[in-house]
Amino acid sequence: MLGGVYAGRADDLSLATTMPALARAARVEHTLLGAVRAAQAAAPRAPGEPVFGTLVGGLSRLVEAAATAGGATIRRDAAVRELTPTATGWRLTVGPTHAPELVDADAVLLAVPARPAARLLAGVADLAPGVAATVGALDYASVALITLALPRPELPALSGFLVPATEGLLIKASTFLTTKWGRLARPDGLALVRASVGRYGEEVPLQVTGDDLVEVVHRELSKVLGTPLPAPVASHVQRWGGALPQYAPGHLDRVAAVRSALRGTHPTLALAGAGYDGVGIPVCVRSGETAAEEIIKALGGSA
Ligand SMILES: Cc1cc2nc3c(=O)[nH]c(=O)nc-3n(C[C@H](O)[C@H](O)[C@H](O)COP(=O)(O)OP(=O)(O)OC[C@H]3O[C@@H](n4cnc5c(N)ncnc54)[C@H](O)[C@@H]3O)c2cc1C
Repeated sequence: MLGGVYAGRADDLSLATTMPALARAARVEHTLLGAVRAAQAAAPRAPGEPVFGTLVGGLSRLVEAAATAGGATIRRDAAVRELTPTATGWRLTVGPTHAPELVDADAVLLAVPARPAARLLAGVADLAPGVAATVGALDYASVALITLALPRPELPALSGFLVPATEGLLIKASTFLTTKWGRLARPDGLALVRASVGRYGEEVPLQVTGDDLVEVVHRELSKVLGTPLPAPVASHVQRWGGALPQYAPGHLDRVAAVRSALRGTHPTLALAGAGYDGVGIPVCVRSGETAAEEIIKALGGSA
């Protein structure tokens, strides 16, 4: 699971961050099986409740909805390059170096990955030593998603599968999109099959052309499924460089120490997102809400 979802190695990942419910159960249960059962019992699924959920029209609709919700002004494609404390809050330097724009704010919630967050924190005066470096120490794995449109392939009745690193394959997971999401099923039998490639510390195999990735994925899928798949009629390659955080053991303690340091010197500056609280959209939404509530309290309001 951890290899497939985090593109990392189970031995190197923090259980408390990647699987918090299992980590909690493992503190009281005596066997792994017992801990898994207890974690499952603590979050029961209603009969018929689907395992997966998404948005009709694709997840990018979430970005569009957030950009127009709540009457807030949302600026997209605006990279913040510098963060400076002022007498009343913060000054952000935004945009390209040849045309910088200064934006004043009461508070700042940094919901950016660890490396850009560390770069911004490094420029903040009065911050406890080591805070920026601790945030920036989080490493990331790069992955690529390759989607193939296959005419009437023979696929098992599954939503997909995960491939352990020990198999020696480039693919680490595959999703049969047209099976997983009934709405995508097509009357002509064309199937969309997506494969995820790339593991932590193994960037070299990704440094090939998109056509080469399509070729390798097609070959490996045929091998795993035990049947030669038809040639794809279309394909798509999406690269996600440095996308999946590799939480080393002790991650949550490091994040707690960083947050405590920020609260001490700069209570209107907070951190949220996958670089700190775990991967996945629900976790990131909760992380953002918690950080926003802290900031509102620091500003003297009630959350
Ligand atoms: C291939 C893949 C598949 C996934 N599938 C799922 C899934 O099915 N379900 C699920 O729940 N999760 C999934 N995830 C995980 C999920 O996408 C992430 O956990 C989540 O998007 C992280 O949200 P975030 O807001 O912390 O960071 P991000 O989504 O990385 O957003 C950070 C934002 O900060 C911006 N930024 C960076 N630097 C600056 C700067 N200096 N100034 C301004 N902005 C900046 C970036 O441009 C980016 O938009 C997947 C991840 C990957 C890589």
